[in-house]
Amino acid sequence: AETTPRTGKRVLLANPRGYCAGVDRAVQTVEEALKLYGAPIYVRKQIVHNKHVVRTLEAQGAIFVEENEEVPEGATVIFSAHGVAPEVYEQARQRSLRAIDATCPLVTKVHHEARRFAAQDYDILLIGHEGHEEVIGTAGEAPAHIQLVDGPDGVDKVTVRDPEKVVWLSQTTLSVDETLETVARLKKRLPLLQSPPSDDICYATSNRQHVVKEIAPECDVVIVVGSRNSSNSVRLVEVALDAGARAGYLVDFAHEIEDAWLTGAGTVGVTSGASVPDELVQQVLTHLAERGFGDVEEVTTADERLTFSLPQELKRDMKAAA
Ligand code: SF4
Repeated sequence: AETTPRTGKRVLLANPRGYCAGVDRAVQTVEEALKLYGAPIYVRKQIVHNKHVVRTLEAQGAIFVEENEEVPEGATVIFSAHGVAPEVYEQARQRSLRAIDATCPLVTKVHHEARRFAAQDYDILLIGHEGHEEVIGTAGEAPAHIQLVDGPDGVDKVTVRDPEKVVWLSQTTLSVDETLETVARLKKRLPLLQSPPSDDICYATSNRQHVVKEIAPECDVVIVVGSRNSSNSVRLVEVALDAGARAGYLVDFAHEIEDAWLTGAGTVGVTSGASVPDELVQQVLTHLAERGFGDVEEVTTADERLTFSLPQELKRDMKAAA
């Protein structure tokens, strides 16, 4: 609903937005490995799901591959922030690769939970998006115990061996609200369903969704900077629309913004996914300023200070080289 009459054009800039601790660590891991071992460094899958980041690292000598087989024997390979199944470490060992694991520690935490519940012979309902790398990695920890539940509509397909021994876990980058709905539906079918010991949806995902929900009702348009294959970025557009933004768009770069999106708009919301460097957001702000949206108000709903240290195996080699 309309609250205050709009007088001019303005931008509401969401904070927190952009890089999370896990992405920052993963990108730094590739940069440090390039410095330490020299190019080329192989990276299995996109280190983080952002076009610009991948292109920039490629220019510095990173080679992105889909599978370990594409990495020459004995070379260095970095596993992406999304995590990998145990067999991927094993393949790397067999090919004598120097493997560096840039899996976000918050994804690793979900892997641990999966292993622990599988060891206790639970049925594990993993809420997540089919085909996403993180889900493939987590499910690979205990394929016999894990079934994927892809949103509320996936609930009816679930079958369990013992309704008293079931737990749900989730992908880290889901919509918080949609996941609550999925869990509520699951609990209707399985009243004894257990919840994960701590939130699997990570702080960065929930903080970015929270601030977008705050600004969306005031926005005629919300522009989310992020790539199509970035789960948390795509969720931000959905959350903005659900929360009352009249339109929402996902762009990788400022030049993708169409003037028609801004026609008649008073307030434009801007945010970015967890894999997006802030320079891309700054370019969007410049682009908007050139079109009359130079008045920027930042809306802050959380203060993020979490950082993760670099992977042990890399730190060890950095220390030895120093
Ligand atoms: Fe880790 Fe969350 Fe960032 Fe994914 S979005 S890398 S889980 S902090």
